[in-house]
Amino acid sequence: MSTENTSDQLFNNSVKILTDLIAFKTISGEDNSSLINYCDEILKKLGATSFKTFDDEKKRVNLFATLKAKNPSEKKPIILSGHTDVVPVSKGWNTDPFVATIKDDKLFGRGACDMKGFIACTLAFAPIYSKANLDRDIHFSYTFDEETACIGAPILIEELKKRGVKDGICIIGEPTNMKIIDAHKGCYEYTTYFEGLAGHSSAPHKGVSAVEYASRYVNKLIELREKLKERSPKDSIFDPPHSTLSIGGIFGGIAHNVIADKCHVNWETRPVVKEDGVFLNSELDKYANEVLLPDMKKVFPNSSITKKIIGEVTGFDRDKKSNACELVSNLTGDNTREVVSFGTEAGLFQEIGISTVVCGPGSIEQAHKIDEFIVLDELKKCLRLLDGIKGQSISN
Ligand SMILES: [Zn+2]
Repeated sequence: MSTENTSDQLFNNSVKILTDLIAFKTISGEDNSSLINYCDEILKKLGATSFKTFDDEKKRVNLFATLKAKNPSEKKPIILSGHTDVVPVSKGWNTDPFVATIKDDKLFGRGACDMKGFIACTLAFAPIYSKANLDRDIHFSYTFDEETACIGAPILIEELKKRGVKDGICIIGEPTNMKIIDAHKGCYEYTTYFEGLAGHSSAPHKGVSAVEYASRYVNKLIELREKLKERSPKDSIFDPPHSTLSIGGIFGGIAHNVIADKCHVNWETRPVVKEDGVFLNSELDKYANEVLLPDMKKVFPNSSITKKIIGEVTGFDRDKKSNACELVSNLTGDNTREVVSFGTEAGLFQEIGISTVVCGPGSIEQAHKIDEFIVLDELKKCLRLLDGIKGQSISN
């Protein structure tokens, strides 16, 4: 940044914006439109064009705003992307989670690091981009409901495809302590519902026990888990190297002497490659529809097995020649590449051909926790990265 003075001003402004953002209670699943309008106002005043996409009820909003290049060149546009939702708060906070509070070198508040800190930095820096002689477009992408299995971003991505935005470099500012993350596994969550026929336990042949069929289904999942291990890619960069599968819960039955007519199973898988997710689901569906269900229907024709997708967060694959990683490396001097165990929206941007990197201020250690905070110095580091991007986005 040009002088010590502007740099102080920028930092103070990012703290002020972060304070405003934290005050919007944008818990996943709830209305985030006030926060989106706040961001849209700031960017529009700077001359940005923007469009919004919505959920079915039009309560939750994605914003995509653009500061257009003044001297268009061949350079790929840059997308600065963050999710606007935060996870719910539990009891035990030492401060009001929706009032940003600075203590020593930290700013406390829900979303401080995950990930309103990044959004605040991009908004604080936007006036500088708008005054600069940009030779590429800079986009600001703010999504809803990332924390609940990336529900908002796919709606935005569909619109980007329609508008022909399928090339570019995307920086997703999830908290990585400004380290470069270039891969993570997918995260697919499901609930499978079993409906059979209730009856007296003394005559098991006259009922269809949903609990028993659910148990056989769970056994099949455990059997398939072993197959996933065998499918582990040789050059896997993950720990563990293979796709994982976990049963989160089995719920069913009312009494010892009653055949359970209802049961459901919560389960999830984290595929290292997309093919594993396809393999697992097709094997499992085949077993449910061709083995279990016909058996259930022999006794009770209205029996059913229904698998509901809770969320399928696409994996983020390592790209050895990533424009996005190279850009950040050039600006920060950090040439390391790491993988993380949490999911992000990165795979969704990558899927439409946008080179993507996850890199942002703050630590995932503080995310989703009581007394979430961001170390203020992280905001300064992020502002320096945004300044570097300006340097790479003006013609000499
Ligand atoms: Zn996040």
